[in-house]
Amino acid sequence: MRIKRLKLSGFKSFVEPAELRIETGLTGVVGPNGCGKSNLLEAIRWVMGENSAKSLRGGGMEDVIFAGTAQRPSRDFAEVVLHAEDGEGEELEVVRRIERGAGSAYRVNGRDVRAKDVALVFADAATGAHSPALVSQGKIAAVIAAKPAERRQMLEEAAGIAGLHVRRKDAEQKLRATEANLARLEDIMGQLD
Ligand code: ATP
Repeated sequence: MRIKRLKLSGFKSFVEPAELRIETGLTGVVGPNGCGKSNLLEAIRWVMGENSAKSLRGGGMEDVIFAGTAQRPSRDFAEVVLHAEDGEGEELEVVRRIERGAGSAYRVNGRDVRAKDVALVFADAATGAHSPALVSQGKIAAVIAAKPAERRQMLEEAAGIAGLHVRRKDAEQKLRATEANLARLEDIMGQLD
């Protein structure tokens, strides 16, 4: 998957709508301390479904919304749009929006979807909010210090099989529900005999 464009509005320090084109090849983001370089990487993680406030350097999920400054009032929502191209050259547009008091909503190619569906789209393309391709400050040291199980998770994400675990969990839940239904049916049949 190749990320082609990123649009931010009200996300952290990006109070005004901003659009970035990410060309093929190496992209560098330069700027003075505190200008929002890390916020850009966090916007990519966030639109991919990141839900850990800690990994977004916030106390709660709504902390990604522009909090206001001495000169500017705060915003009520934050939105990030990611345009990408999948391995087959198909265009993909993922939108995540959060409103104060209303939580997050996602859209993929114009359709409302669940957070889980977004995670699967990226997991199947061997990427996602926890992809080792998104290297934030301190990440290299974290990889070196990672426990074997954590390293395995990183490798599984890089190999594109992380989505299989989500589907397996879903299938196991359905199986358990079906088993419970069957047991109830047998009870009822037993009472009828
Ligand atoms: P450095 O080079 O020091 O790592 P950076 O360019 O990566 O800095 P970021 O850490 O991305 O900068 O941006 C930090 C800035 O974003 C700070 O000025 C902070 O006040 C601002 N910021 C973060 N969250 C919000 C928010 N919710 N509302 C407004 N501003 C925010």
